[in-house]
Amino acid sequence: MTAVTQQSVAVLGATGSIGTSTLDVLARHPDRYRVYLLAANSSSDKMLDLCLLHKPRYAHMADAESAERLQCALSGGETTVVTGSDTLCSLVQSVEVDTVMAAIVGAAGLLSTLAAARAGKKLLLANKESLVMAGALLMDAASVSGAAILPIDSEHNAIFQCLHSNDRAVPSLDGVRSIILTASGGPFRLWDADSIRRATPAQAVAHPNWAMGAKISVDSASLMNKGLELIEASWLFRTPPSKIEVVVHPQSIVHSMVRYNDGSVLAQLGNPDMRTPIAYGLAWPERIDSGVAPLDFLSAGPLEFEAADTARFPCLRLAQESAIAGGTASAICNAANEVAVASFLSGRIEFGNIPVIVENTLANVVNQEPGSIDVVLEQDRLARQCALAEIGRLSKDS
Ligand code: NAD
Ligand code: MG
Repeated sequence: MTAVTQQSVAVLGATGSIGTSTLDVLARHPDRYRVYLLAANSSSDKMLDLCLLHKPRYAHMADAESAERLQCALSGGETTVVTGSDTLCSLVQSVEVDTVMAAIVGAAGLLSTLAAARAGKKLLLANKESLVMAGALLMDAASVSGAAILPIDSEHNAIFQCLHSNDRAVPSLDGVRSIILTASGGPFRLWDADSIRRATPAQAVAHPNWAMGAKISVDSASLMNKGLELIEASWLFRTPPSKIEVVVHPQSIVHSMVRYNDGSVLAQLGNPDMRTPIAYGLAWPERIDSGVAPLDFLSAGPLEFEAADTARFPCLRLAQESAIAGGTASAICNAANEVAVASFLSGRIEFGNIPVIVENTLANVVNQEPGSIDVVLEQDRLARQCALAEIGRLSKDS
């Protein structure tokens, strides 16, 4: 057996759903991986447990008070506690780091993800919002630095695998007719439009197949997640939105597919457990144990496929339209959605208001050329401001 070189890993969003699954896979292979940096927002209790277990060199808390709390609890240990956005970006770029798991949720993950791409790291990309906001900048940064972007989103990971990517970081699109993204359909797949409009946060986060963070669960319920994934796929695989199909597959066993010119369709299948794409990204181009049970075809039941309904789920249409519009439209769409989802989760607006806020924000914020990260951040700020004003207006009307 050949000896493996140990990779030093930074896990951003360590306390979340993807972060926890990543640490589970890493802990199965201590010969291959050591944890250099854990980063999270404010959950210092959970971070304390993770630090005691994984003994990272650094723990970063975005929230300064949480950093202080963690510092007190850890004093005298081998982990240094830090805070501040610039500090996170420079730690990610440190020569000590080989691999970065970008799993902070939302726009908050953009700068650290971009820092990893600029520094030529092996970038395991779960934070789809960074590609949605700044796809051109992120892809260009990776191609200049030579960073390999390994998609962690299960659909994109599946597509990457179906594009013969076992031996190259930039997959070939030769002979590809289209990319087929599968969608579970979410918890409201069979609901009528009126019931969907009035759905509660508890109903929206109860995903039938996947255990995920609250924001992506709501996005899955509205199908905004599939729209964001279409934009993500378009950047990752340099494919126009017109060549990306969406098909609902309620069992979440077929994670996505690639349709070739000769009539072949390649699919990647597996149980719905994020440790599979995480292990693939970590070990690529090799394969390691992820802890996921083998897929049992005899108990999986029939695999069904149906059309996505953009009339009941307008968020999918809005994201598709922003992908086609180009410029900063998808950054505006993403920002409006983040604000609307947070507002829905806090009980301020109805589920049915999410697409209304996104559509009105897209109509009111002027689309720009995303020439620099400053332009993207300014468009994100303007879209948030506009979405908040829309929410104020809707709350008054109701
Ligand atoms: P989550 O809510 O479970 O975890 C989010 C993590 O981000 C937490 O560690 C939190 O502390 C951290 N965070 C939040 N705001 C932060 C800030 N301002 N600064 C620093 N850290 C911050 O979310 P998740 O479900 O793990 O999703 C993470 C990302 O992965 C999202 O972009 C999501 O779209 C993507 N993703 C998740 C799944 C999944 O199965 N959960 C699948 C595909 C893609
Ligand atoms: Mg996905």
